[in-house]
Amino acid sequence: MKGRFAPSTTGEAHPGTLLSALLVWLDARARGGRALLRFEDLDRTRVQPGWAAELSEALAWLGLDWDDTIVQSARGPAYEAALDRLAAADRLYPCACSRATRSGGRRAPDGGWAYDNTCRDRALPPGGWRAVETAVRVRLPDDRVELVDRGGLDLSQTPARDMGDPIVRRRDGVVAYQLAVVVDDADEEITDVVRGRDIAPSTATQVLLQRLLGVATPSYRHHFLLLEGAGGGKLAKLHGSIPWSAVRARYRGDELCGILAHAAGLAESPAPCMPRDLVAGFDWAKVTTRDRVARWDGALRVQ
Ligand SMILES: [Zn+2]
Repeated sequence: MKGRFAPSTTGEAHPGTLLSALLVWLDARARGGRALLRFEDLDRTRVQPGWAAELSEALAWLGLDWDDTIVQSARGPAYEAALDRLAAADRLYPCACSRATRSGGRRAPDGGWAYDNTCRDRALPPGGWRAVETAVRVRLPDDRVELVDRGGLDLSQTPARDMGDPIVRRRDGVVAYQLAVVVDDADEEITDVVRGRDIAPSTATQVLLQRLLGVATPSYRHHFLLLEGAGGGKLAKLHGSIPWSAVRARYRGDELCGILAHAAGLAESPAPCMPRDLVAGFDWAKVTTRDRVARWDGALRVQ
């Protein structure tokens, strides 16, 4: 069994990042498995130098250790080989459709706009995908994917219709998330993916990409999220409003671990504890499935 924690390095660590890392780590350690840390740093327009190092420091501070660390920006040749394979199978096409042309169309399961596969019949230029100056999409099979994750979440979709063909290489040349994650999980022989529920609607698309590339589908589990107020009474996934720098100034690692374990349903009180103290009693049946709301008023409050 091998799991992975794969944060993007586009922002400072926060309690939601650390909660997800803790759950991935506990899932692996409680089953005697390996735990990999993978930095998703392909988005050069959003990644800031220093975030990966800070994230590593935050994870160690919380008491988490990793069997291996991978950086996506060092994996360019693997993604290029995958694009070559998809091109050889006649699955890639250029697409210059903008977000604006999709807005007002059909809603996708992830809340965005579905892509109507408008450009499916366009051919790659003579130089192949490397010569494309717009986005490159992959023509998905029209298959329905029947999939229920280990937590019982039904992820079944017909991705080509519900989401539309995904972009695999962005207009700026960056390999898109959907392809990178599938190639990485396969090359690293990840057997069990644990990640936040916000990513769940991407899973069926990733399964079809796995089938196109002829690689195994890992088992999936999607956990509850920490939310924050987003104005107008709305809630959104916790992002930068409670930075780790503030948390660290107020708490020790074992104190935050206790708060997170309590919020997750893994401890009866928020008393300080280390992740390793939670391994023996770890059970997904105890982990809440209800999203929780985090607030900061000089202390971390999770409701
Ligand atoms: Zn298009």
